Amino acid sequence: MSERKEIKIDKAELDRQKEIMLRLKENNSMEYQKNGKHKRYFVITLGCQQNVSDSEKIMGMLDEMGYEKTEEREEADVVVINTCCVRENAELKLFGNIGAFKQLKIDNPGLLLCVCGCMMEQEHAVATIKKKYKHVDLVFGTHNLYRFPELIERSMNEKYTLIDIMNTEGFIVEDIPVRREDKFKAWVTIMYGCNNFCSYCIVPHVRGRERSRLPEDIVSEIKQLAADGCKEITLLGQNVNSYGKDLKLEMDFADLIKIVNEIEGVERIRFMTSHPKDISDKLIQTMSECKKVCEQLHLPFQAGSNKVLKAMNRKYTKEEYLEKIEKVKRVLPGVALSTDVIVGFPGETDEDFEETLDVISKVEFDQSFMFIYSKRSGTPAAEMENQINEEQKHRNFERLKKLQADVSKKVNDDYLNRIVEVLVEGPSKNDASKFTGRSRTGKVVNFSGQGELIGQLVNVRITEVFSWFLNGEMEA
Ligand code: SF4
Repeated sequence: MSERKEIKIDKAELDRQKEIMLRLKENNSMEYQKNGKHKRYFVITLGCQQNVSDSEKIMGMLDEMGYEKTEEREEADVVVINTCCVRENAELKLFGNIGAFKQLKIDNPGLLLCVCGCMMEQEHAVATIKKKYKHVDLVFGTHNLYRFPELIERSMNEKYTLIDIMNTEGFIVEDIPVRREDKFKAWVTIMYGCNNFCSYCIVPHVRGRERSRLPEDIVSEIKQLAADGCKEITLLGQNVNSYGKDLKLEMDFADLIKIVNEIEGVERIRFMTSHPKDISDKLIQTMSECKKVCEQLHLPFQAGSNKVLKAMNRKYTKEEYLEKIEKVKRVLPGVALSTDVIVGFPGETDEDFEETLDVISKVEFDQSFMFIYSKRSGTPAAEMENQINEEQKHRNFERLKKLQADVSKKVNDDYLNRIVEVLVEGPSKNDASKFTGRSRTGKVVNFSGQGELIGQLVNVRITEVFSWFLNGEMEA
């Protein structure tokens, strides 16, 4: 059995939360017997995949409390807004969302409006809610998610906004109920937090330092998912390459992948996100040896200029990054590469930006997630004096978008007439007579096919290519 250095949540504390969930379930069931109406919940998730994963836990707990999920906010008795503070527009979106619920609270005074997530770890955001959005019933953070049943029960009897932000980090809580929205694909968090402190990023400040889950807990979750029919697992963490460093174990992320690769029923393994400075030769080799690991790697480079990379505190140079990419391409031929890029970081000149374009052209990423830099209060970059004007940021952003679209189309051209394996997700969004799914390299593939295909792995011949998706015909 593995050991962890951090404090574990007391089992009695978890049992107490379970008792509360049961009590609320009984109350909701009694209400249903009285008026024939189920209590419902509506969850809004803003931000990254970690928030999506947290929302699955929030929904899992609400299910256990006897609430039913609704897609109509007007029908809800409990609304949860799971916030993000990584980008500025996420903050604007949040306050817009909270404001929009004021009328619903007036129409339905019994409605419980809860706000949680990483933005609630920032004092100024909580202070804004306290001052301007008094119709919010409950505010809680990322570290006390497991106490949601208790908090919801308490907030039912509170006249004012109940605020519960726990400053202690280092907990990992297992056995929280989870509601999975997708039966065939699942995100499995393997670690929380980040130790890197990139100068523009708020994550280490709001999600805390790196904490790895124990391998046996991860394996048991994945085995259960596989037994329930799940075929594709994405291992999730802010920097998965650091997995295990905080555990008293002789194993690293590559070793974890080898273990997951042996789990029966799992057909595909992906992971994100990797930090370029930490991706090891061992990991690249393991990716090539483990047949279930998909030929796909997301490796954010953020900027091409060494001066900007230094100011970002990324701890690698453009040359080192390109060297790692060369190695990846050599060991994993045909690998699909994706990245994150920030445009307009403080001090970035047009010459610096040319270096970013150079990396995009040299690497030929399948896809880039592009962001215009915006200040996040509490980060060193927000205090830098050489902020870039909006006109320059937007001009360069457009150039980057155009280049990436051309590169993506060029990369996809190679898929024409190839046969790719697709995990079928459902009907295509644009044409319900077709199916859609993803290839091992993460490409969206739309195709004609017949029968019960959802959740199946099928072979599709590619007949048409675009920058962001492929069309094809299913092979007999
Ligand atoms: S690696 Fe950098 S960008 Fe990624 S979460 Fe950590 S601090 Fe943020």
